[in-house]
Amino acid sequence: MRKLFPAILLLGTVTGFSQIDKSNKTRPNILVILCDDLGYADVGFNGATDIITPELDKLAKEGTIFSSAYVAHPFCGPSRAALLTGRYPHEFGSQFNLPANSEKSVGEGIPLSETFMSKVLQESGYYTGAIGKWHLGAVPAFHPNKRGFDDFFGFLGGGHNYIPSDYRAKYDKQIAAGNKNIWDYLTPLEHNGKDMYETEYITDAFSREAVRFVGEASKKGTPFFLYLAYNAPHTPLEAKKEDLKMFESIQDKDRRAYAAMVYAVDRGVGKIVAALKANKQYENTLIIFLSDNGGRSDKGANNFPLQGDKGDVLEGGFRVPMFFHWPNHVPAGKRFDYNVSSLDFYPTFTNLAKAKIPNDKKIEGKDILNDVITNNNPRKGEMIFAMRHRAGFSDVGIRLDQWKAVKAKKAPWKLYNITEDIGETTDLSKQYPEELKEMVEGAKRWSKEHSEPKWFDPESLREIWSDQHMDQFPGVFNLSK
Ligand code: CA
Repeated sequence: MRKLFPAILLLGTVTGFSQIDKSNKTRPNILVILCDDLGYADVGFNGATDIITPELDKLAKEGTIFSSAYVAHPFCGPSRAALLTGRYPHEFGSQFNLPANSEKSVGEGIPLSETFMSKVLQESGYYTGAIGKWHLGAVPAFHPNKRGFDDFFGFLGGGHNYIPSDYRAKYDKQIAAGNKNIWDYLTPLEHNGKDMYETEYITDAFSREAVRFVGEASKKGTPFFLYLAYNAPHTPLEAKKEDLKMFESIQDKDRRAYAAMVYAVDRGVGKIVAALKANKQYENTLIIFLSDNGGRSDKGANNFPLQGDKGDVLEGGFRVPMFFHWPNHVPAGKRFDYNVSSLDFYPTFTNLAKAKIPNDKKIEGKDILNDVITNNNPRKGEMIFAMRHRAGFSDVGIRLDQWKAVKAKKAPWKLYNITEDIGETTDLSKQYPEELKEMVEGAKRWSKEHSEPKWFDPESLREIWSDQHMDQFPGVFNLSK
């Protein structure tokens, strides 16, 4: 028993186990498919009509779709850090993206004091892989192979160009010119530290590597954990010609390219599902699909019906499309409307793996699987936060049951009944001042756990942070402002 419950004990609750007989079942494979900057409405299962995602839709339909899934930050690096550490990134100084070319300019990464979920799963006997975008530290100490991933194929920075013949030419030109600090988006991909001069469109390359990983992992005799972090459809908007052809009816050029990029992911997911079936792993694999943050409507994305974009603490910034799929375990054809967080992955997955979380490891999510199965609220009366630091001020979003509180761009706090007003249109702060006060006080308490940022992005924010005492959150929790 002791081995099963570390995360639950930390949270002081014992919900989550009565429905599942863990002792007599093989531990499942866990496949996380993470998209980058994918908008809330940019997959068929979440309302897209112009983008076609048949493979994802099929999995979503056979699984449970989450309407209220949140990531812990409205942009890339901190959101990923939270997913893999089970903690809000602000608490270990990772509240900004690692800057581009971080190897040269910063040399930082997510603190090694945070044991990644991958490490816990690896130590419990899982064969572990990361494919795609890393963005959690580009120097050797923070390399995926050092953070619990047996196998890594991808790139270490915050983004990458997609078409090798194009980016390789640019890269070679810079090498020839003697440039020592070449933009991350152009550098070769790598496999376990070795440069790989890829030739395929890189979304297809990542799908191909995922198929390879599934094949190799299936021969190990242990379950696997695969973190498949596509950079699509993050900018630059670069699609394959054949995929663009599918979306000729889309007039907007950016939207057309974006749709084709999402379709490439979907096509790859189809191949991975086929590989799972061919290797007899399909029934025993929990597949989780989500985006790391909201989409950019100025770059082809659509977050309808949510307000706001990537980077915002409005819903469009950090509420993401998500499903769970696991035959005979996760309910099929269901929609789960209670609030969940990507912070929940750490305890949920490590419990499924019967893995031992280090005693000193703090985690903030909860094991949600049983509540998903029984359709219960996993965090009644508990808040989910998002805080984004800007130049001299901070934005905060708080979810609590049906409520959403927002402080954005120095405007006064607002309160929405988000279950009835998903578009954040009608401010109820005057009608429900006590509810708002409770939420703001909750966020203030949470802020006391924050650490100083270990790096800034852009670097110019370092001076602003210090000059304006942003560690003191000036004005942020003031209800009269
Ligand atoms: Ca992102």
